Amino acid sequence: MMVFRKTFGIYQTNCYIVREGEQELIIDPGEGSCEWVIKSVKNARAILLTHGHFDHIYDVAALKKELKVPIFIHKNDAFFLRSDQDYMGYECCEADFMVEEGEYVYGGFKFKYHYFPGHTPGCSMIEIDDMIFSGDFLFKDSIGRWDFEYSNGFDMLKSVEKCKQLKGRYTIYPGHGESTTLERERENFDAYIRYIKSTLK
Ligand SMILES: [Zn+2]
Ligand SMILES: [Zn+2]
Repeated sequence: MMVFRKTFGIYQTNCYIVREGEQELIIDPGEGSCEWVIKSVKNARAILLTHGHFDHIYDVAALKKELKVPIFIHKNDAFFLRSDQDYMGYECCEADFMVEEGEYVYGGFKFKYHYFPGHTPGCSMIEIDDMIFSGDFLFKDSIGRWDFEYSNGFDMLKSVEKCKQLKGRYTIYPGHGESTTLERERENFDAYIRYIKSTLK
């Protein structure tokens, strides 16, 4: 499998293309990513979203029209696609697959949605092979914010505790910034848990 990354928009959001053979999955196509994605893919099969924040979904509607591929998003974040919550100016559309935690097989790919709410109600990490696309839940040396509208600190705490239990060796491809590994990030989880707890009092 090959992974291509390019950053888009004011928050430098990572858009990823995962290629296996002649087929691709597109992950989090942010503002202005449409053109790059279209010229980079040979046979796109689906758009997978880690969560519904505007900087990760901005070009989803345009790409869906152009590539005629279905959209996957956790069911609790589908409302972001349906209506532009913060008037950010993106085009709305409907999700085709409103997923829950679990394994999915589609278009020659197998991927798993891991549910880690807190940053948003449907925030997820997507496992493909030995890679995890962590969206805004987990970054290199930090985690996502839990102080936005629709965020929840208690959920975030539970999610980090749950992530601590995640076994295996994975390369982490976050929604912003550099790639990392789960092994490296595991070292930080106890500190995150302490910090989140301190903000919840
Ligand atoms: Zn976000
Ligand atoms: Zn983001």
